[in-house]
Amino acid sequence: MAAETSELEQLAARAATCTRCRLHSGRTQVVFGDGNPRADLMLVGEGPGFHEDRQGLPFVGPSGQLLNRLLTGIGLRREDVYITNVVRCRPPGNRDPQPDEIAACRDWLDGTIRLVDPKVVVTLGNFAARTLLETTTGITRLRGRTYPFQGRLLLPTFHPSAALRADTSGRTENRTLNGMKEDFQLLAKLLEEQPAAPSTPEPPSVPEPAAVAKVTETADPEGEQLGLF
Ligand code: URA
Repeated sequence: MAAETSELEQLAARAATCTRCRLHSGRTQVVFGDGNPRADLMLVGEGPGFHEDRQGLPFVGPSGQLLNRLLTGIGLRREDVYITNVVRCRPPGNRDPQPDEIAACRDWLDGTIRLVDPKVVVTLGNFAARTLLETTTGITRLRGRTYPFQGRLLLPTFHPSAALRADTSGRTENRTLNGMKEDFQLLAKLLEEQPAAPSTPEPPSVPEPAAVAKVTETADPEGEQLGLF
């Protein structure tokens, strides 16, 4: 059963004054997370960008708009899901988060997942997938299937910013975006298949990984060559 909203609010209040890594010195504010605190679906991105840092909300810039469209495409509204990031403060100039920054922020991420208690976690891009799956494998190879994760399912997909960049790279076919659309179709199926929350607290039942359809093995090496992932 999901925890009370207030516990999540308490966690967010503690995070708001966090100084565990150097990112605190450049932030406007901590971007903790947003959405339904009892959501079945949590999306985890990389870290706040310019717009997120200003507004204090995750995925409110162009990547967020694409994310909203992908959610709408499978019948979900943004307010139905919970959205957060691997690091909660904006890396300067939107650079990649460093390993020690990700490690310093890990308690906030683990706490958020524990309290929201989603049935499915979707990671967006390399950093979220590698952090939660504790792997060095790239997103191109990881995506398109689910992984067992803390008694729930984890589905890695590309980061929306990669799809946006691929969109402007002159190719007629946006394979990154197509891959994300496939992954969101699998996500819709997974959410449909998940059992309703039990009325008494008990561990969520999770299908065997082998029972989950592997959507595609199509690689997107061009994305990696472009340094998008
Ligand atoms: N990119 C991310 O990874 N997270 C955000 O919140 C915004 C853009």
